[in-house]
Amino acid sequence: MNVTRATFDEVMVPNYNPASMVPVRGEGSRVWDQNGAEYVDFAGGIAVNVLGHCHPELVKALEEQGRKLWHLSNVFTNEPAMRLAKKLTDATFADRVYFANSGAESNEAALKLARRYALDKFGEDKNQIIAFNKGFHGRTFFTVTVGGQAAYSDGFGPKPGAIDHCDYNDLAAFEALISDKTCAVMMEPLQGEGGIISPEPEFVKGVRALCDKHNALLIFDEVQSGVGRTGHLYAYMDLGVTPDIMTSAKALGGGFPIGAMLTTAKIAESLKPGTHGSTYGGNPLACAVAEKVLDIVNNETVLKGVCEKEELFRSLLNDINKKYPFFEEVRGKGLLLGCALNEKFHGKARDFLNAATQEKLMCLVAGANVVRFAPSLVISEEDIREGMARFERAVAAVVNAD
Ligand SMILES: *Cc1c(COP(=O)(O)O)cnc(C)c1O
Repeated sequence: MNVTRATFDEVMVPNYNPASMVPVRGEGSRVWDQNGAEYVDFAGGIAVNVLGHCHPELVKALEEQGRKLWHLSNVFTNEPAMRLAKKLTDATFADRVYFANSGAESNEAALKLARRYALDKFGEDKNQIIAFNKGFHGRTFFTVTVGGQAAYSDGFGPKPGAIDHCDYNDLAAFEALISDKTCAVMMEPLQGEGGIISPEPEFVKGVRALCDKHNALLIFDEVQSGVGRTGHLYAYMDLGVTPDIMTSAKALGGGFPIGAMLTTAKIAESLKPGTHGSTYGGNPLACAVAEKVLDIVNNETVLKGVCEKEELFRSLLNDINKKYPFFEEVRGKGLLLGCALNEKFHGKARDFLNAATQEKLMCLVAGANVVRFAPSLVISEEDIREGMARFERAVAAVVNAD
């Protein structure tokens, strides 16, 4: 059967508006479309493909598990899930893991656990959830309401209640909002979708201290920042602050859908048998791939490589900016970077993305004012230089058209 981009509009719900080319194959940080055109990938499937496309060791893990056992449901446990959970708890603050299939589902589990824990320990009045403007936590109705963009949660009828927001990095506003009625605070330790915004160290420490003061659980959504993305296995590890609950997805499966919620043994007790679940969560195929991802990424050389590649990205971006001034600053950490456009190009992030696609470079935006890069953590220097040469041509096209 012959399918083209036009087929999409005939058979798909119109909630996405994909690019005009249709990718068919990937290898490392290169992708080919239906016409054989080759792209450099600085998007990484939205911060997912941490080891690029079709990494031989991930393909091997998937094939080996694929010949053994695909699915059981949680009526049974399985070896890959237990091994992955053991490795995750060994590598982090957490003692217990719940597996899901996506970031939103992992956050949904985290929020439900926080509400249940507060009910168990403190009673039903302790139910407020605080989150931050511009935050993003997924698209289920609970998580999209906790996310800090009303535009995403409006228009679907009555929302889940007891959810309040304040500005990220505004400790005074946060302090005014939190009280003994707060059961949990959900935050990204580096805001991704909201525009690549790093937390100020004093802000995160202050949030942690106020959560402790009011017996509120601190939930870090590391769906985008986790699994090596910032040059640390998880972003919290470099902030001097430990959450009570943490979620991980995107990079965790390197492209195979999986999500995880991690917490302490004490808090985990509130998810007693029957309180929550998922048919696919902890699926052996997903866990076998994620175990391999973790084995490869949780390695000093790989994590140090992320910091070195960050330096190269920043210096090449600065070179382009000297020739064609288009950004104010490069924000973010590791290989989650965003060019915050200068005043002249405000609202035009999409123009840069479209021009990049024309030049056969895949990149991302984060809102209307930020061009985002989230490439493979093991992208080669050659691919970075080639991608940046293409990006320079794209920037020139936008700047000269202005
Ligand atoms: C992408 C993302 C999510 C949602 O993940 P899905 O797998 O799309 O459900 C949640 N939180 C953050 C911080 C994200 O970047």
